[in-house]
Amino acid sequence: MDSNQKNILSKIAGSSIEFECPMSQYTTFRVGGPAEALYRASDLITLQKMVSILNQEKIPYLIVGRGSNLLVRDKGIAGVVIVLEKSLGAIEVKDKNSLTIFVGAGCSINTFLTMCLKSGWSGLEFLAGIPGTIGGALAMNAGAFGQEIGNNVQKIDLIDRQGQLLTRDKNSLNFHYRKLMIDQGSVIIGCYFQLEGQSKLIIQKQITNYLKKRKLTQPLDYPCAGSIFKNPANDYAGRLIEEAGLKGTILGGAMISEKHANFIINTGNALAKDVSSLITLVQEAIENRQGIKLQPEIVVVGKEV
Ligand SMILES: Cc1cc2nc3c(=O)[nH]c(=O)nc-3n(C[C@H](O)[C@H](O)[C@H](O)COP(=O)(O)OP(=O)(O)OC[C@H]3O[C@@H](n4cnc5c(N)ncnc54)[C@H](O)[C@@H]3O)c2cc1C
Repeated sequence: MDSNQKNILSKIAGSSIEFECPMSQYTTFRVGGPAEALYRASDLITLQKMVSILNQEKIPYLIVGRGSNLLVRDKGIAGVVIVLEKSLGAIEVKDKNSLTIFVGAGCSINTFLTMCLKSGWSGLEFLAGIPGTIGGALAMNAGAFGQEIGNNVQKIDLIDRQGQLLTRDKNSLNFHYRKLMIDQGSVIIGCYFQLEGQSKLIIQKQITNYLKKRKLTQPLDYPCAGSIFKNPANDYAGRLIEEAGLKGTILGGAMISEKHANFIINTGNALAKDVSSLITLVQEAIENRQGIKLQPEIVVVGKEV
């Protein structure tokens, strides 16, 4: 980005844009170099303008929710990171009878589930404990305990690269394992969910049960990004890594969790390169041993050199 482009972006975003912003503060892994610019989007109109200008100026950009599925490289990110703020996370009942609920992409999963519990809306309890936004959960087709968020989606509102708002119906949406296929550069703005009425007691029980299971099996006391690898067909990445004897392996400040082999934790002073090296080490070990190339579930971004 040249200084003229920085001035254009500052005119649009005012104090909501910062330059050279450390991404370790915007990711749950707590690693990563600086974003060349970071824009905290709190209203739709400005966000639309920003997306349109970034495309016109051919400035790369990356949308970030809570950064809970991201590994940002140590050299940082060229271009603009767009973080969706809570003010883009409204929750609205669109149809009382069919329980169609709109949720803005900036809403945290936890905030939405708290509302679901209060209101007796059931269907997404399995997301309890996933520390992301609704936008990030949709982009990743987040799932747990055999369920995925895509199954409850009716339609999604997006901003396209021209900054135009559009709505995509569920029939035109392709949800895959940990991925929603959308055009490069589109920003998810919100989602219409189809939920069901349920007793608050039952919803609470389900949420408590899912949270208990997570606490028992996941290293939640350390910075991390959840599961590192996708599960291969008919197996579990964690099982393969554990069987290969890799639990507890340390490289720099990164460690394969003793509690859950598919989690890499930041023991305090990890660099992104420590995490990346551990990922490669695991991939090579599992490929040599079991002939399976594990694919990362986390999204790795940033400058390579
Ligand atoms: C302790 C822990 C447990 C976890 N458990 C699970 C689990 O059980 N199941 C699971 O699926 N995941 C899990 N995760 C991973 C992560 O929390 C989810 O993938 C979450 O949905 C990501 O949301 P986010 O807002 O943090 O997205 P980010 O990490 O910020 O972004 C993830 C991807 O989505 C894109 N994106 C984000 N917001 C938007 C948007 N509005 N429009 C377009 N693209 C967007 C980003 O560009 C990026 O490619 C876990 C993570 C942690 C740390």
